[in-house]
Amino acid sequence: MSIRDNYLEILKRKDAAAKRSGRNPEDVMLMAVTKKHEPDELREAIDAGATDFGENKVQELLSKYDEIHPERWHLIGHLQTNKVRQIIDKVTMIHSVDSLKLAREINKRASAAGIVMDVLIEINLAEEESKTGISKGEVQELIEAIVSECESVRVRGIMCIPPRADAPEDSRKYFRETKGIFEEIKELDLPKERADIDTLSMGMSADFEIAIEEGSTIVRVGSSIFGQRDYR
Ligand SMILES: *Cc1c(COP(=O)(O)O)cnc(C)c1O
Repeated sequence: MSIRDNYLEILKRKDAAAKRSGRNPEDVMLMAVTKKHEPDELREAIDAGATDFGENKVQELLSKYDEIHPERWHLIGHLQTNKVRQIIDKVTMIHSVDSLKLAREINKRASAAGIVMDVLIEINLAEEESKTGISKGEVQELIEAIVSECESVRVRGIMCIPPRADAPEDSRKYFRETKGIFEEIKELDLPKERADIDTLSMGMSADFEIAIEEGSTIVRVGSSIFGQRDYR
C-alpha cells in the first residue's frame, strides 16, 4: 500500500476506535511520526491530509523543517536543554518535559521569542532505566513547580510510552493508569493560562486503538504510515 493509503486506513481505524468507545473521533488527533523518513514520503502524507508531524530528534526536525511544511511540528523525543533554543519557534508542542530544569529553559526561550509553549509531562510508568520521563509520584510536584515559575509555558497534559510488549493488549494497563493520573491532575486547582489540561499523548502503531479506548487524545503513529524504519 502507498503512504496515502496507509494514512487513510489508520485515520479510519482511529475514528472507529473512538466511536466504539463512545468518543467523538474529532477528539483524537492522529500525528504522523516522520523520523527516519524522507521529505518525499512526508509530502505524500501531507497530500493525504496529515496536519501534524512528530520528530523525536532535534537535528532531524531541523533538517526537515525548511523543506516540509505540515500545519504543525511536535517534538516527541527526549530534549536536551542546550537544544531548546533551536526549536522553540518551530514546534507547536513539546511532548517530553521530564524535569524542572528543562521546563525552565523552555520558559526562558519562549519568553525571549514572545510566545507561550505548550508542553506535556512525559511519564515513565514502569520506571524503566532505559527510558526518559518521570515517575508518577513526581508528576504533580513538577506541574505545580512549572505553573508557579514558568510564565511562558503552558502544561497541557501527559505523554507516555509503555514498555515494549509482545502483545498490544499488554499496553492497556499502562494506558489506563496514565489516564488515571491525567484525571487527577485535571482536578488540581491550577490557573488556566498556565495549565490547561486536555491532552493525553499515548498510543503508537502497535497499540493506538487500545490507547484510544483508554482515553488518548493524540496517537503518534510512524511505521504503520511510512513503513518500517531503516536504522542503518
Ligand atoms: C517512533 C516514535 C513513535 C512512533 O512509533 P511507531 O511504532 O513507528 O508508530 C511514537 N512516539 C515516539 C516518542 C517515537 O519516538
